[in-house]
Amino acid sequence: MYEIKATQQLKKLMRDYFTSMSKPVAWCTSVGPAELLRSFGFDVYFPENHGALLGATRTAMDYIPAAVQCGYSGHVCSYTTSDIGAFLSGKTPLQKQYGMEGIPKPDLIVYNTNQCREVQDWFNFYAKHFNCPVAGIQPPRHIDEVSKEETDLVVQQFKKIIPACEEVSKKKFDIDRFRETIKLSKEATMLWQQVLKTAIASPAPISFFDGVIHMGPIVVLRGTQQAKDYYQLLLDELTQNIMDKKGVVKNEQCRIFWEGMPIWGKIRMLSDLFTQNNSVVVASTYCNSWIFDEFDERNPFESSALAYTKIFINRSEKAKMQMLKSWMDEYHCDGIVFHDSKTCHNNSNAKFGMPQRMKEETGIPYLIVEGDLCDLRFFSEGQSITKIETFIEQIESSKIKI
Ligand code: SF4
Repeated sequence: MYEIKATQQLKKLMRDYFTSMSKPVAWCTSVGPAELLRSFGFDVYFPENHGALLGATRTAMDYIPAAVQCGYSGHVCSYTTSDIGAFLSGKTPLQKQYGMEGIPKPDLIVYNTNQCREVQDWFNFYAKHFNCPVAGIQPPRHIDEVSKEETDLVVQQFKKIIPACEEVSKKKFDIDRFRETIKLSKEATMLWQQVLKTAIASPAPISFFDGVIHMGPIVVLRGTQQAKDYYQLLLDELTQNIMDKKGVVKNEQCRIFWEGMPIWGKIRMLSDLFTQNNSVVVASTYCNSWIFDEFDERNPFESSALAYTKIFINRSEKAKMQMLKSWMDEYHCDGIVFHDSKTCHNNSNAKFGMPQRMKEETGIPYLIVEGDLCDLRFFSEGQSITKIETFIEQIESSKIKI
């Protein structure tokens, strides 16, 4: 069976990250200004990563009712509801996994609505609960191309956070430390991009289902040497595997693109399903969302404002379609699976007719899988297996006809 050996190092890295977290702690959204926070010496904690853990350990459904009781709809972001519900229940997978008492308490909370407004509600819940300072960045949304005016606006918002960071960290802003953090983050993110691009090879040495596990450090350790070292290690292994013709599937028949959120509680099941059908999900919008190639330490504010505003989820349909088409082409995909995630309309493009429009423009076959990032009550395993197997069969038989 194909295995990525670097996984052992990944486990150690994630354990060290969680267990070494000490004061002062800043909470941040997953595509928020982590580098700026790190430059003040904050340890940075990401509630979305915790939401993904709740999904992956299939404990999310145990806690969502507690958030619903507190007034949150069961149809809003299940990262938000499972995370708040777990908190209200005094539970976290970090207790069992790493022996921690609970989640790290925040000294400062920072969000960026470049992905959705839900994070603002979610983070404000905690700001109120902990009586903790909270600051937000609200960039323009759903844009075609990001203009200089838009970047300038976001730069001002970044700079407005600095006084709160100084007060809580008791450190003056240091532009050189910020530059250094941006540089490390850029190096790690470019290595992450190279890791993802190894899947252009056939057989692909990494799939989307591996990617969502190995992306941990680029989410939680951006701006650190550890993240950079980890992706160099992973890249070296995958490059060697390409040379040895070792891949996720030996007899690779079908290459798929995954659009939308992962279904965290079904990663293993879906990975096995595609493998059994000699197919690989070789690329995704999700894993590509942590490539910030605009970072430039010479212009730390402007470049990070641009990088964080031009992410896929924050773009117009026109820009998203262009990005999708270029990835489909680059990774030689035969079809695309759109995950219609019931509690995240922000990252579910199948809800707005994109699959049909993509098919009209490109002829690329598509499948819509209904499910959710954490709430498995919205996912039918039997129905999804049938749909995916039929989709793969159709792609394979159309290739034979050609
Ligand atoms: S993008 Fe979707 S999944 Fe992520 S925090 Fe926002 S609503 Fe939740």
